[in-house]
Amino acid sequence: MTDKVNLLDYDRKSLELYFTEMGDKSFRAQQVLKWIYHQGAVDFESMTNLSKPLRAILEQNTCITPPEIISEQKSEDGTRKWLIQIDGGNSVETVFIPENDRGTLCISSQVGCPLECKFCSTGQQGFNRNLSTSEIIGQVWAANKALGYFENDKRIITNIVFMGMGEPLLNYDNVLKAINLLTDDLGFGLARRRVTVSTSGIIPEIDRLKEDTNVSLAISLHASNNELRNDIVPINRSYPMRDLLAACKRFTEARDNEPITIEYVMLKNVNDSLQDAHDLVDCLRDIPAKVNLIPFNTFPGTNYTCSEIKTINAFRDVLVKSNIITITRKTRGDDIDAACGQLVGKVMAKAERHQKNRVELN
Ligand code: SAH
Ligand code: SF4
Repeated sequence: MTDKVNLLDYDRKSLELYFTEMGDKSFRAQQVLKWIYHQGAVDFESMTNLSKPLRAILEQNTCITPPEIISEQKSEDGTRKWLIQIDGGNSVETVFIPENDRGTLCISSQVGCPLECKFCSTGQQGFNRNLSTSEIIGQVWAANKALGYFENDKRIITNIVFMGMGEPLLNYDNVLKAINLLTDDLGFGLARRRVTVSTSGIIPEIDRLKEDTNVSLAISLHASNNELRNDIVPINRSYPMRDLLAACKRFTEARDNEPITIEYVMLKNVNDSLQDAHDLVDCLRDIPAKVNLIPFNTFPGTNYTCSEIKTINAFRDVLVKSNIITITRKTRGDDIDAACGQLVGKVMAKAERHQKNRVELN
């Protein structure tokens, strides 16, 4: 069983190669993808347009194994959070957020996260490993299954955001294949703009993403000066703000100036002054961008608190007056710890850092 290849690890191109290398036609890949992503098939018996001998070969050498949902929580506001088993010791969380005109699935890309942003529960938890393509696309497959998509053929998940656990651009190759499957007509067929990769700013991979895909980009900026960003988003010490903003500019230029999203978590007395708002306007002067202000979501052990509503509104007004489209993100699912930055799953951390950060915060 374990030496079988999992077909959920293949996007169209790599699956076509798989079939041609075994002496069959690349067209088989298209048939199999449709079975998996349109019909929700997990066994080869049902793939009636494949010959019996081919089905037997696939059965012997391959499998279609999505990760398993081990528990589900439902919020009063309709948000659903699934705990997804990854391997013996690890699990990740995936969140479905229904809204009037869309359904957004927030997916994880790593078990934990190595980047240690100070205000993020996942980052405080440590890091185990990257998720495979099958574990990433498998979250979408499993959520669609749980929502009845394969039976009813009615699209409930319309948008995907890589805003769950982990830094997607530190797991570039697997995330890219998952993106290909999300946007491929033979996969989940989502419009490219409805897939958003959120990153804390891994500059070389932002440039690669620009070349390799057409998906939307969100940047976790969270500070309007380099010094503060060095402190709260430590990856900034390797990829400083000025260079990050230049990468954002390159990205938007390559997309006909379509705006990117800037995420900015509102931390009381840390990054929420009017001066910070004016500095943010300056940072974004040359970059087509809309801003999402994210009220800080608390978690055990943090020393941060969320800015007051009136502070968030005053901050927003400064941006809006400078013609920057700004929305304050509604907190969803916080009664089940499903809001931004609250996802933890179960991470067998290889690098334990919880204590260290506690000391730094105190
Ligand atoms: N690693 C990626 C994507 C996952 S985090 C990134 O950092 O962009 C998704 C979003 O939630 C990011 O903007 C992140 O900064 C934000 N976030 C993290 N912790 C948060 C918290 N406690 N409250 C509110 N937003 C948080
Ligand atoms: Fe990682 Fe994103 Fe959390 Fe930072 S905010 S620790 S990059 S998941």
